[in-house]
Amino acid sequence: SDRTPNTPILPPAMLGILGGGQLGCMFTVAAKTMGYQVTVLDPDPNAPAARFADEHLCAAFDDQAALEKMAANCAAITTEFENVNANSMKWLAQSTFVSPRGECVEIAQDRIREKTFFRDAGLPTAPFLAIEKASDLEVDLSLYLPGILKTARMGYDGKGQVRVKTKEELLTAWQQLKETACVLEKMMPLKTEVSAIVTRSVSGDCAVFPVSENHHFEGILDVSIVPANVTDAVKTSAAAAAKTVASSLGYVGVLAIEFFVLADDSLVVNEMAPRPHNSGHYTLDATTVSQFQQQVRAMCGLPPGDATLLKPVAMVNLLGDVWPGAGTADCKEPDWSSMMSEPSGFLHLYGKKEARVARKMGHYNLLGSNANDVAAKVAALRDELL
Ligand code: ADP
Ligand code: MG
Repeated sequence: SDRTPNTPILPPAMLGILGGGQLGCMFTVAAKTMGYQVTVLDPDPNAPAARFADEHLCAAFDDQAALEKMAANCAAITTEFENVNANSMKWLAQSTFVSPRGECVEIAQDRIREKTFFRDAGLPTAPFLAIEKASDLEVDLSLYLPGILKTARMGYDGKGQVRVKTKEELLTAWQQLKETACVLEKMMPLKTEVSAIVTRSVSGDCAVFPVSENHHFEGILDVSIVPANVTDAVKTSAAAAAKTVASSLGYVGVLAIEFFVLADDSLVVNEMAPRPHNSGHYTLDATTVSQFQQQVRAMCGLPPGDATLLKPVAMVNLLGDVWPGAGTADCKEPDWSSMMSEPSGFLHLYGKKEARVARKMGHYNLLGSNANDVAAKVAALRDELL
């Protein structure tokens, strides 16, 4: 049955979210400040979102009793991550409005389906080969080498990826990955990387946030800069591609698309995330509406908010690496005092109890009148931290 709301879901309705990490936490804060109540499902008793939620169901994502409670209590349900059990989402959708749909999440959680979807939608991807069985390797591999072998499922922050130059390295890497389903992707010469985050409403209206320029370090997002230092044509085509993907999926909610920008300024679609994205954290301080407020609006059947940039901004991720005890032995406590003293600097810490290397602990948004200036200041801050 169609559970799409005909009239907006208004406060103080109960909203549900699958996952209570930092994304679920920032969603929860946004929803609470708008007057909604929030139920969070997350098996971690210390889930960051639990500090703000009205109810924390501390159970597995496929726990039937917890799902029944969510279905009974929530007017609408969303997710903070793509590796949630899509069957749970489909089950919930029988009685509650679930956005994005489980079918969209299923595509995003499998790189083979995702890249095939992009290709079928007419969007350029890196040359890729789906590898599900040994005989899939009996093709002209020179089209994909040197390349990156990526597990089709459960990869994030560069995990489940091996760089390979030769057929021999490829075979060894696939064995290391236990011959699980993978994609082999040709290594692209990147000029830079950008992302576009689109919000699509129940009635099909789209708002795209300003395109962000993203710098990665060891496979993890490090710094995002907005406005991106790319041509207007690149920005326009990234935004258009994001809308195309959202519309052809009949998507409702916030959808992030990552792109590679090549030397000739052509765009290659990398991957999508059916949720707010790390590269959109700048929207918490630098746009009229945040990506988490947009997530609330979309799931409640409201039109997307105006996503205008107020000021140039640079965001730097704060990883556990820079926490004493988790990172290098000589690392000192990050200088919260100078970060907090900056009038245009906004510190966000996620309240995670334990710091670990590569774990996302928080981020810092620095606003200014010029993107180059804030980018340089944030780069200096980052070098000081590491
Ligand atoms: P994850 O799900 O871990 O984010 P990605 O596919 O986005 O995986 O890869 C992480 C990063 O690795 C990218 O942002 C990019 O910097 C680099 N990368 C991935 N695929 C390629 C490629 N085909 N060519 C060049 N760099 C790549
Ligand atoms: Mg990525």
